[in-house]
Amino acid sequence: MSPDAGLRALRDAIDELDEQILSQILKRGHIVQQIMALKGSLGLDAFDPQRETEILGRLTADRTQPFDPGQVKAIFKAIFHASLDLKDRERWQRLQVKRRDLVPQEGIMVGGVSVGTGGPVLFVGPCSVETPQQMDAIASFISTLPGKKILRGGAFKPRTSPYAFQGLREKGLRILRETGDRYGLATVTEVLDVSTLDVVAAHTDMLQIGARNMSNTELLKAVGGTGKPVLLKRGFMSTLEELLLAAEYIVSSGNSSVVLCERGIRTFEPWTRNTLDIAAVPLLKLETSLPVIVDLSHSLGRTDIMLACARAALAAGADGLMMEAHATPELALSDGFQQLDCEGLRRLVEGLGIGIAADQTDSRASSAGARRNPTAQSASAGGPS
Ligand code: PEP
Ligand code: MN
Repeated sequence: MSPDAGLRALRDAIDELDEQILSQILKRGHIVQQIMALKGSLGLDAFDPQRETEILGRLTADRTQPFDPGQVKAIFKAIFHASLDLKDRERWQRLQVKRRDLVPQEGIMVGGVSVGTGGPVLFVGPCSVETPQQMDAIASFISTLPGKKILRGGAFKPRTSPYAFQGLREKGLRILRETGDRYGLATVTEVLDVSTLDVVAAHTDMLQIGARNMSNTELLKAVGGTGKPVLLKRGFMSTLEELLLAAEYIVSSGNSSVVLCERGIRTFEPWTRNTLDIAAVPLLKLETSLPVIVDLSHSLGRTDIMLACARAALAAGADGLMMEAHATPELALSDGFQQLDCEGLRRLVEGLGIGIAADQTDSRASSAGARRNPTAQSASAGGPS
């Protein structure tokens, strides 16, 4: 046999072996699935480290040449991991947050505002509720903006320093509610713990779970029990998988009205307060039908690049934007440096073209603002220009 013909024959033999190995691995995968189903019905854990060690020991006890035992172990470990991944993927696909029918056609209703359909919603207002006058000054302006708006304002504040302004608590909740009602604006405010959940829920249309609390599983379960819409922020050190599993806690506790919020994550980049992870928007939308919004203020910590990032967020598919705004940011009791003033807010909304495009599919959404604001009646919640 010529060297050429010999090489071809050897390659043919390898190809045939690869086919056989693949078909054996696939067969093994099917058996693993059956074992896992049985283990599941018996309440046993899918991963059995002792059995894995025994199998590896048996397989490498003799005849590993031309490989050494470590290489054979590595090959089989890869096969074992692929089998366990099968289980993980199956479990992932069965999550409630993966259900495509989770969000009703009209979107998630917050007061009269639908989130998730009919154009972007602006979640806008000061970092903290400070005084009735401060809230009135900014809300009266917000109510004149076109498009869909929800008034934000923190009453229970999760501050990094215990010496920083901690919020007006119940008094702040009352001011937020009264201001929202005066201007026909739905409201969102943060709930910090289970002990204050009832009072917060009684005063607001939507509950915010902040970045620091995304992993507070008791709080997630408790807000799941309220039936109130929830704005769930991504923790600043959390993966998207962890965010979705946090949402799963709420949804599996009986509340599917969850809006996800990308608010920036911690990286080594100091030029923004956090790093806005724009890819989070389309990635979350691949995995879930829950609406996704972007908090520009806490991700950027600055206002000068907000319009460009807002455009990017909407272009990436965000269902809304959060911006902190204050009539006099220089006097704000928290996060003054990142809050827009009224003029900045007007320019941002104009720059996004909100109110210009004519596709207003959600008539109920504009009705709240329209009660006080005649211009809002023709307003649209269109995307970026
Ligand atoms: C907030 O929105 O007021 C806030 C504290 O944001 P985060 O939880 O994203 O830091
Ligand atoms: Mn803030």
